Amino acid sequence: MTRGDDSVLERLIFELSSPGRQGLLLPELDVPEDPSLAEMPPGLLREDLDFPEVSQIDVVRHFTRLSALNYHIDKGMYPLGSCTMKYNPKVNDQMAGLPGFSGLHPLLPDSCAQGALELIHRLGQFLASVAGMEACTLQPVAGAQGELTALMMAKAYYARKGESRTRVLVPDSAHGTNPASAAMCGFSVSEVPSNQRGSTDLEALKKALDDRVALVMLTNPNTLGLFEEEILEVIRACHDVGAKVYCDGANSNALLGHARPGDMGFDVMHFNLHKTFSTPHGGGGPGAGAVCCSRDLEPFLPVPRVRVQDEVYSWSRDFPDSIGPVHSFHGNFGNQVRAFTYILSLGLEGLRQIATAAVLNANYLRVKLQDSYELPYVRTCMHEFVLSGRQFARKKGVKTLDIGKRLLDLGFYAPTIYFPLIVEEALMIEPTESESQVSMDRFIEAMLQIAREADEDPELLRKAPHSTPVGRFDETRAARKPILRWTGEEPPPIDPASPDRKSP
Ligand SMILES: *Cc1c(COP(=O)(O)O)cnc(C)c1O
Repeated sequence: MTRGDDSVLERLIFELSSPGRQGLLLPELDVPEDPSLAEMPPGLLREDLDFPEVSQIDVVRHFTRLSALNYHIDKGMYPLGSCTMKYNPKVNDQMAGLPGFSGLHPLLPDSCAQGALELIHRLGQFLASVAGMEACTLQPVAGAQGELTALMMAKAYYARKGESRTRVLVPDSAHGTNPASAAMCGFSVSEVPSNQRGSTDLEALKKALDDRVALVMLTNPNTLGLFEEEILEVIRACHDVGAKVYCDGANSNALLGHARPGDMGFDVMHFNLHKTFSTPHGGGGPGAGAVCCSRDLEPFLPVPRVRVQDEVYSWSRDFPDSIGPVHSFHGNFGNQVRAFTYILSLGLEGLRQIATAAVLNANYLRVKLQDSYELPYVRTCMHEFVLSGRQFARKKGVKTLDIGKRLLDLGFYAPTIYFPLIVEEALMIEPTESESQVSMDRFIEAMLQIAREADEDPELLRKAPHSTPVGRFDETRAARKPILRWTGEEPPPIDPASPDRKSP
């Protein structure tokens, strides 16, 4: 990792390698060597592995230094809207690390994994009850995969009924994974506009609905952080044409214990355990996108499913209408243990308080910031809200990207920016329930300072961050031409004229 001036902050572990160094001293082999090794076809033998040769303390220091360079939730506030980067209580990790869970092989006979099966069964039952729905699968390992699973189930449901439905409706504020999942599942996707108040436009929705619509994918609270005011009418209109309604419940921390999507009329939904239920997802994984559904979609859930009879748990594949497995084995079990621990340690009342605090915190920030930044939809928000940095872009040429980068200088992670797409220069902020008033006040101070700087010293923001280990990344190049493997050679020089270098 290098800084702008090329002074090295931390070398790759491969570059720390020194021949002969090792981290563990293994005893001499004191049993006969396996004779079959000699018969192994040479092509299958792994020899001369190009692993770094480092001592134990080299490894420990390397990763400790890297962890200190990184920003993470254990270091500071992470106001990343639509991402619910909340604190992960350490007891979750402690439980997931129990050898009976972490050392369990997924191919063990059911009789040797009763505790794990019970956990999967009880977690699924709990999620279904919080959703107000009938059943649950924990197999999908991401929110997006949960969406795809639900879409496949809806497709199978209509095929079983002998109906040909090829369309999916998605609001213009939806998370990008919604239309992507629908297209991946072979549906044609139509967009439904939002109205002036940031809710789904009911009249436009009615116009778009017909008997070819299989699924309408909604997010409630939607990605503006607003509760869908006409949700009952919206869902009734969908049901009137025989369509099912999907709830993107990736971030459900505003609803927990207060309202249930099933009671609103939703037929199927996903939860991101890695957002709502605290299992960590910084750095891109691992995830868990549990899908809950109503009684008429239940037969189509992925297999295997846990069955319980006389308090004995077993895996069953005996569901002839199932769409089949969507993942090897049983999903990200470690996340499931963490989520289950979180739920048990809080209890239903604790989960209710999470929602209360998440909504209170978001509204506190919204009210404190709405005079210095533009608030495009002036409404009480749920667990998050969206500001616009449009005024700074127009007057001073300071983009929302610059505001996000400047926040890094002031000790915060940046909010989600440029999403949802319907807000120009969007800043989407979600403090989560983890943050105290003291830490939120520090964040408010930082945001107000940046608003002043945008007026007085826009260049300072355009060049930010100034104090982080690395400055601005070439994000386009990082996405298009990532260097993922150490080869020992210098990476190719950056060509400033390359089209890959256009900033977003
Ligand atoms: C995060 C998110 C998703 C996608 O979840 P992944 O686990 O990243 O696939 C979908 N919808 C919303 C609203 C989200 O915030």
